[in-house]
Parts: sequence; C-alpha cells; structure tokens
Amino acid sequence: FVLNAERLLEQAIARSGFDGFHAAMVDVTDGAALPVAGIMGQPQRDDYRVGLAFAGRNYQLSFRPTAAYKEAETGAGSWMVLSAGLLMTGMLGALMLLISGERAVIEEQVADRTARLRDREARLEAILDNAADAIVTVDAMGILVSANAATARLFGYPPQHLIGLSFGSLVPNGAELARLATAAPEDCVLEGRNVQGEAVPLSISVAPVLMGREAFFVCILRDLTEQQRSQERIYRLAHHDPLTGLENRFALNVRLEQQLALARRHNEPAAVLFIDLDHFKKINDSLGHAAGDKLLVGAAERMKDLLREVDTLARLGGDEFIIVLAGPLTPDSVTSVAVRVVESLSQPYQLGGATAHSGCSVGVALFPNDGEDAATLIRHADMAMYAAKREGRGNFQFFSPEMNAATHEHLLLENRMWGALNAEGFELYLQAQVELDTGRVIGAEVLLRWNDQELGNVEPSRFIPVAEESGMIVPLGDWVLGQTMKLLAQWQREGLDELRLSVNLSARQFSGAPLLARLDELVAQYGIDPSLMELEITETAAMRDPEATRLLLRQLRTRGFKLAIDDFGTGYSSLAYLKLFAIDRIKIDRGFVKDIEHNPNDAVIVAATIGLAHSLGLTVVAEGVETQAQWRFLRGKHGDEAQGYLFARPMPAGEFREFIRLQVQLVPDA
Ligand code: C2E
Ligand code: MG
Ligand code: MG
Repeated sequence: FVLNAERLLEQAIARSGFDGFHAAMVDVTDGAALPVAGIMGQPQRDDYRVGLAFAGRNYQLSFRPTAAYKEAETGAGSWMVLSAGLLMTGMLGALMLLISGERAVIEEQVADRTARLRDREARLEAILDNAADAIVTVDAMGILVSANAATARLFGYPPQHLIGLSFGSLVPNGAELARLATAAPEDCVLEGRNVQGEAVPLSISVAPVLMGREAFFVCILRDLTEQQRSQERIYRLAHHDPLTGLENRFALNVRLEQQLALARRHNEPAAVLFIDLDHFKKINDSLGHAAGDKLLVGAAERMKDLLREVDTLARLGGDEFIIVLAGPLTPDSVTSVAVRVVESLSQPYQLGGATAHSGCSVGVALFPNDGEDAATLIRHADMAMYAAKREGRGNFQFFSPEMNAATHEHLLLENRMWGALNAEGFELYLQAQVELDTGRVIGAEVLLRWNDQELGNVEPSRFIPVAEESGMIVPLGDWVLGQTMKLLAQWQREGLDELRLSVNLSARQFSGAPLLARLDELVAQYGIDPSLMELEITETAAMRDPEATRLLLRQLRTRGFKLAIDDFGTGYSSLAYLKLFAIDRIKIDRGFVKDIEHNPNDAVIVAATIGLAHSLGLTVVAEGVETQAQWRFLRGKHGDEAQGYLFARPMPAGEFREFIRLQVQLVPDA
C-alpha cells in the first residue's frame, strides 16, 4: 500500500469522525512554506492555524471549515476541540513518518521492510522523547503501555516504572479517557499527582486510536505550572499597586464586598477608613516625584504596622488609602485605630536628606449603619475625610447623615446654578450706602440674588459657599462684574453719574492676571469710569497671601478702581499689611455693629477700628445698621458711612433707581 503524508492527513481527519474541514500542513522551517500535505489555497480570515515545532523543524497546520460545515454550524467551539485532538494525534503521526524519511512512498515490495520498520520505530521513539509534552499510550483498561521521556520528568518516575501504571494514578480524575476525548478544552484542565504526591496542573488532550483491532488512547499532557505562575503574576499586576505592593482600587472593591458578605452572615460590624495625606502635592512638587514615592511607601508601611492580619490596606491612587477593619469592633476600637493612623502619619519623613511633614486626614464609615455596600461605604468615608480636612486637617471624622445631606445639597445647588446662569435666574440687588452725618445716598453694594424655578429664593449664604467650593463663583462673579458695568454705563447715560457701585469679589476671582485682563476688557466694552466701581474683598481672602494681595491691589488702583476690605474684624489682619494695601475703605462687619450699644467689647473694637482707619487715611463703612441707636453711636465715634436696613434693604436695580429718583430723604434725628 501507499503511505504518504497527504493520505495520513486524510486518514487522521477521517478517524476523527469529522469531515467538515480542509486541512493542510506546510514546512516553514526555512522561511518559505513548503507544502507537505493537503492544499488550502490562499489563507483566509477564519483559518485555524497551529504551529508545531518538532525535531528541529517547524510546521504549520491549517484548518478551514468547509462551506457546508459553516452553513450547518455557527459555533466555533467544537471546531477548536477537533483541531486540538487532531493536531495531537494524526498530525503527530504524519510528522513522525515524514521526519523519519518517509516523505514519498513506502512500497510494500521493499526488500528490507522489516529492518526499515524497526529503524522507523526507533526514530519514532527518539522523536517522542524529544517532545516537551508528556505523551502516553493507554490501553482500554486504563493502563500505560508507552510513555515518553517527558512523562517521566513530569511525574518524577523512572521511565521504566511508568509502563504498567494506571493512568488514574497519574491523573486521579482523568480515568474516563473516552469522555475526555470529546470534552471541551476548558474541561481538560486537571490535576496530576507526581511521585511525591504533589499536585501538578495539567492540560490533557486525548485521542482514541485503533491499532489493529485493539482500541487505545493517546494522551498528551501539558504542564501548566509555568503558565499558571505567569497568570498569577498578571493577576498581581492587575490587582496590586506596584509602588507600595498594596491592593489597588479594583482588588479592594472585590475584597470589601467579600468582607461585607462575611460580616453580614456573622452579624458583625466592619469599618472603612479613608485616608488622604495632607500637603502631599506640595511635597511632591517641591522635593520631586522620587521623594513623593518614598513618602507614599513610608506611609503605607506605617499603616501596615498598625493593622492586624484580618484588616485590609489598599491604595486607591495618588495619596489616598483605604483601611478596612474587620472582626469584632467597637466605636472605641475604630477610633483608636484612626487616632493611631493620624499620629503615626504625622511623624516627619526622612526623604533622602530632606525632612518632610505630611500628616493625614481620615474619614470613617461603619458597616452597616453608614452603608450596606462597598461603594457607599467608601463614598461616605470619603465625605467624612473631606469634613476632617475642612476641620483643619491632621484629624479624623466619623461619617454622619448630615454630611451626606450637605453633599446632596451641594450637588443639587451646583447643578441648578449652572442652569440659572444660563436661564437668567440670577439678578443683581442693590443696597444703598449712605453718608453717616447726612443720610445722603452715596452709592450701593451689589448683592447677588437667585430665584430658582424649583427652589424659589435661595439665600447667598446658602449658594455662595457652594459656588466658591465648586469654582462656579468664577463665571458667576464674572457675570456680576459685567452686569454691574452695564448698569453703571446706563446710569452714566441717564446722568446719574455720581453713585458708586461696590461689587463683592470672591477669593477665587482675586487671582492676578486673569482678573486684570477681564476688567480691562469689560471697562473697554462698557466705556465706564473705573473710579465709579469699588471692588470688595474680604479680610480673610486678602490675608491668605498678603504679598500677592498687595501687588494686585496696586495694579487695580493704577487702573482707577476703588478698593475695600469687607467683613473687617472677622479675620486676622496684620496692621503692617493694612498699611501697605492700596485700599480706600474698610467695612466693619455687621457682627460688631449688632450689639454695639450693649456690648462694651464691640463698642471698643468699632471705635478703635474707626480711629485706626482714619490714621491710615481710610474711610469706614459700618455694615448692618438697623437701629437709630446704632446710627447715633457710629456718628458719635466719627464713622463715615453706613449700610443697613435702617436706610434701605437690598432691592432690584429698577426699584433702586426709583428710590433715588424720589430723593427719599433720610434725615438724621438730631
Ligand atoms: P456682604 O458682602 O457682607 O454683604 C452684606 C450682607 O449683609 C448682605 O447679605 C446684606 O443683605 C446684609 N445686610 C445688609 N444690611 C443688613 C442689616 O441691616 N441687617 C442684616 N441682618 N443684614 C444686612 P446677603 O445679600 O445675604 O449676602 C451675603 C453675603 O454673600 C455677602 O456678604 C457676600 O459676602 C456674599 N455675596 C453676595 N453677593 C455676592 C456676589 O455677587 N459675589 C460674591 N463673591 N459674594 C457675594
Ligand atoms: Mg460685601
Ligand atoms: Mg460684609
């Protein structure tokens, strides 16, 4: 009979009981693709290709489903199974014959057939022993009748001891070879036992073969240890923060959900601590990223030292960490961990020559009270951390429902404010400012009002802080500036050109070049006289960076704007700076005016402020004057101007125009 590779290939296909595909094998060892068996024509997209290195030569096997198969089957699963089985048996046989020199024809009539066959068998054995995978032949009783060298290496048995062993003793769950022969590849990953009794992960492919009348199984066993190890490495990379070796955000979520499930089952509490390092960005920027990294590693180590086995420490990213406390907990024990974290992280760090002080703010959320799931607990701990930061950093806060409400309110207002800014939901109100002695109106303060379609009137004390925190105050304040200039221009056209308008500037707006450029632009657009406009900046904002304030105030004055310090007395002014600031007026905060007649302290402060301001050549405006008595007192102390309900409430610009037109006489009582 005639044996050639092509026939072998066909036989292998036939034996697999599957004729739904074309197959071909090429020798690619020398770069060019030398056809060995089968013809496939041009490669196509859905060809399934397998590389096979064998005895120093490289082959490529290609499979392509026939048109009929593709029509009948849509899933590729069985296709893959088939290919794998086929590859491992039929192809192997074909290859062995090829390599043993039977490239063309073996003729029956060759005289030394027996010798050749023996020779071939020897070469076949050599090839098998060169294979990296364990290859065994098992008889119908499950007993090994042949095994290659790799089998001995894999299981640790001396080669001669393998023959006669049961396959089940090597692979305890692999005894049903007939089932494995048709199983999906993912079901063929089993655990082997080596001679020491250790587990070895294996992928097994099994093909039934008929030799004469006897049925055997050829099994190829691949050691998955290395593959699993590299999978574990990939898993580690995906789940861990490479800098600190801690779990990352992803792993934390998984871990926390597991812990919560446990806590729920055992009716136990759990605590989530959100830790944010204080001043980390500053250190990172000034000392460099290497130092920043060192600090993060140091902080992680300090926290690790404080925790028990059952606790979890993870890094969310940047300078944010999470600690999950599990097991029996009380509010006191959680507090004590939070205290120790704050204390430990407040110790200075030695970062390659430099000493850095960082500290941290910690927020705590408790399961189940503050949240039932990982995401809620982390979010609430985060809110509590922010509250701790607002409280001046370097401390911790437990989450409270009020924090949640505040955050909701914050989001709601921020959201509605953007809408209002676009839909003209904001309006300027004006509150008159009068000369103390005569009651004559000399100008007005511009106060922002918000009438929301859904929320109604929202007080500035409610929305200004939200706008400040979200940064929304910048576009909002810009709108106020524009509207004020527009009003001034209108007044100028109407001949009302002696009234000055005061605008409140947020600290966020008070930022050098952008503010100056914007003011120049608006002044040019509306053609107003800058000296009719006063910019109010609060004492606290002015003192945040006094040197920058000093420079900016000077540039504003050069442009002709009037300048005032608002809410004077509520912050900490340095007298030295007050002298250096190019300002025109000081506005005494309402808080001092309120009890001026009854509280001697307030009376002294107001009198002293007036004296101080006058000595610096500044004018004094008293805010919040509501009673005749307050007015009298201020006049007695030689205050200059006043603003308050006694004279006028804040009112819409149109009404204010009318208020002036009627020349409302504000006559001081004698
Ligand atoms: P402020 O700049 O100190 O404004 C004075 C506040 O005192 C105004 O409150 C005014 O309505 C109130 N007021 C005036 N006279 C009296 C009085 O006799 N009795 C009492 N009880 N209150 C009086 P308002 O309008 O609620 O504004 C509160 C704060 O919101 C302002 O304090 C200011 O800091 C801020 N604000 C208002 N409009 C703006 C704005 O356009 N931009 C910025 N950045 N802040 C603004
Ligand atoms: Mg003001
Ligand atoms: Mg004020």
